[in-house]
Amino acid sequence: MAGNILGTTVYYDADCNVEKLVGKKITVLGYGSQGHAHALNLKENGMDVTIGLRKGSKSWTAAEEAGFPVKETGEAVKGADIVMVLIPDELQADTYANAIAPNLKKGAYLAFAHGFNIHFNKIVPPADANVFMVAPKGPGHLVRRTFQEGSGVPCLVAVEKDPSGDTMEIAKAWAAGIGAGRSGILETTFRQETETDLFGEQAVLCGGVCALMQTGFETLVEAGYNPVNAYFECVHEMKLIVDLIYEGGFQTMRNSISNTAEYGDYLTGPKMITEQTRQAMRDVLKDIQSGAFAEAFIKDSKTGFPFLKGERAKAENHEVEKVGAALRNLMPWIKK
Ligand code: NAD
Ligand code: MG
Ligand code: MG
Ligand code: MG
Ligand code: MG
Ligand code: MG
Repeated sequence: MAGNILGTTVYYDADCNVEKLVGKKITVLGYGSQGHAHALNLKENGMDVTIGLRKGSKSWTAAEEAGFPVKETGEAVKGADIVMVLIPDELQADTYANAIAPNLKKGAYLAFAHGFNIHFNKIVPPADANVFMVAPKGPGHLVRRTFQEGSGVPCLVAVEKDPSGDTMEIAKAWAAGIGAGRSGILETTFRQETETDLFGEQAVLCGGVCALMQTGFETLVEAGYNPVNAYFECVHEMKLIVDLIYEGGFQTMRNSISNTAEYGDYLTGPKMITEQTRQAMRDVLKDIQSGAFAEAFIKDSKTGFPFLKGERAKAENHEVEKVGAALRNLMPWIKK
């Protein structure tokens, strides 16, 4: 039966009726990280899945070789009962206006794996459309691999619009159909999912952690230490520490490190994350909540991503990447 974790409703396979998807015409738009995983898992659960792609898309052959009917985006939307939009967030609004909205069947279910475009009103579906989200808490290759191994990646589910009255049932069926009912399907809202996802990736997972590792590296190199030592200590070993946290939380990690490291952890952590850092996090969150971040991101994308591409080029040419490449050559076993 449905459980509860700290106030959040959790559904498992027994709470979901995957059969609700049987007989429905399902279209998955995009065949990238998430797209291939949702589509293949549902197909292996017996569902009727068509892939929608742009003409000339690199993914076209891959989807055909996997046995899917593949159509151009607008054609794939025509007649579909459920349309899952798994194309890059910055392309969704234009694709919705040009290819999805003109072809969307009355009363169809329109679905997403991230709430960005619905939450920030970049896509405003018609009153008759049912709108839900199934957001796996892991990349697509993991959604696919765990499914094949008989388990699954936990998913968040949310319903934004429900004129049919059964949108949550369809969302749960979808989540279970891609394997999430084996580990847990957690109920949320588009707002919660979107704002926490953006905050986490910016302040902590990607922005925060990479800036911390790179600044640690630069500090040691600037002080005259060998870049090899600097890379091992500030970048390479991050995985070993994160794996321990992933397995058992901070305590498991701290049990496994030396007392020297643990003492330094408590002494120095608070000096790195100061009141100023906390305030910066609150400010980042405000920009996410107000939609200012979303506007800036969409604006950059519409002008050919000058900021994204400029920063990407700078990052690629940083010394830390050259040192990393050289050291990884010593450890060919890192690449599976
Ligand atoms: P991706 O970049 O891996 O793949 C995008 C796919 O969309 C490609 O196959 C591309 O050819 C196709 N595409 C582009 N424009 C198209 C169009 N107009 N019509 C049809 N297909 C088109 O994208 P992704 O990382 O799988 O992200 C898809 C969605 O899933 C996003 O909303 C993202 O936020 C969400 N999401 C991603 C992850 C992840 O780990 N990658 C995790 C959870 C949620
Ligand atoms: Mg990407
Ligand atoms: Mg995320
Ligand atoms: Mg994200
Ligand atoms: Mg060390
Ligand atoms: Mg210890």
